[in-house]
Amino acid sequence: MEQLTVNASRVYDIFIGHGVRDLLSEKLSALFGKVKVCLVCDSNVAPLHAKEALSALEANGFSVENYIFPAGEQSKSPDTLFSLLEFLAEKQFSRKDVLVALGGGVTGDLTGLASALFMRGMHLVQMPTSLLAMVDSSVGGKTAVNLKAGKNLAGVFCQPELVLCDLDYLSTLPQKDFADGMAEVIKYGVIADSALFDLVKDGDVQKNLEEIVTACVRIKRDVVAQDEFDTGERAKLNFGHTLAHAIEKKSGFAVSHGAAVAMGMVAVCAIADANGLSDALTLPAVKAAVEANGLSVTSPFSLPTLYEASIGDKKRSGNTLTLVLPNEIGRCYLKTVSLDAWKELLATWT
Ligand code: MG
Repeated sequence: MEQLTVNASRVYDIFIGHGVRDLLSEKLSALFGKVKVCLVCDSNVAPLHAKEALSALEANGFSVENYIFPAGEQSKSPDTLFSLLEFLAEKQFSRKDVLVALGGGVTGDLTGLASALFMRGMHLVQMPTSLLAMVDSSVGGKTAVNLKAGKNLAGVFCQPELVLCDLDYLSTLPQKDFADGMAEVIKYGVIADSALFDLVKDGDVQKNLEEIVTACVRIKRDVVAQDEFDTGERAKLNFGHTLAHAIEKKSGFAVSHGAAVAMGMVAVCAIADANGLSDALTLPAVKAAVEANGLSVTSPFSLPTLYEASIGDKKRSGNTLTLVLPNEIGRCYLKTVSLDAWKELLATWT
């Protein structure tokens, strides 16, 4: 088991390992006492893991409720958010009580935002069940729901008070969803950790999961500690994401986030390569790692056609866009370009 501490506006611990779900009752007691717990999960995770978590909490003297919402990105909405808030009010939760998000990114983001809003703030614990949520969304405190105009447009920064990453949850994760998470893992390797990249580049990752997840969380933790509110350094975590968001949007979200991140990383490496902006070994290495992990390297849309969708990204400010480009595997830099220059860069890709 690994333990990492995050020093952000809240100081909190992240536990990573096999079976860390068993720590939940003990940690909740230590942090909050015998409070009421609302376990939030979607309709996929509930039948797999909710009963076990609820029984363990009840056996340890917690009073528990379970809020279940339909699985899928469409639930990351103001409607589901307000249904959850009404549920909490109806069940007479108070700000001393705790929300536990058990699930993937949608569950974590939705529950996090609800925890910030209900009575102006109640306690929050994240228990990610997907690889993507473990290495990305459960740490760092970004919460949001989608609006009609785009993803994650209504949210707040709200750090959890505890994160339990139980790697055993990954054994029930569909292969495709695991590959989605690997896209973000590869991202961390490219931007900050060549040893991590070497560990995952062949796609043979099962035996090193604890080390891999811990390496990713450590990078995210360090970036968040430096730039919690995303005004500088944190932008590096968006490597591959400007084009990924454009691909997701243009596909009507038929292409998943991880799959789009894989394509976005390869595309931005290709752009950097074609313009002498990165080391020549980077593009082939990223391509090979993406493929070895069961992900596609090819965007279904040619890059020039992604321009419009890419400039709607939150990373744009005025007439410029900040790109994350790799110097080499393990090191990256930010480059701010004008929208015209971005359009030209997209056109250089073939
Ligand atoms: Mg992402």
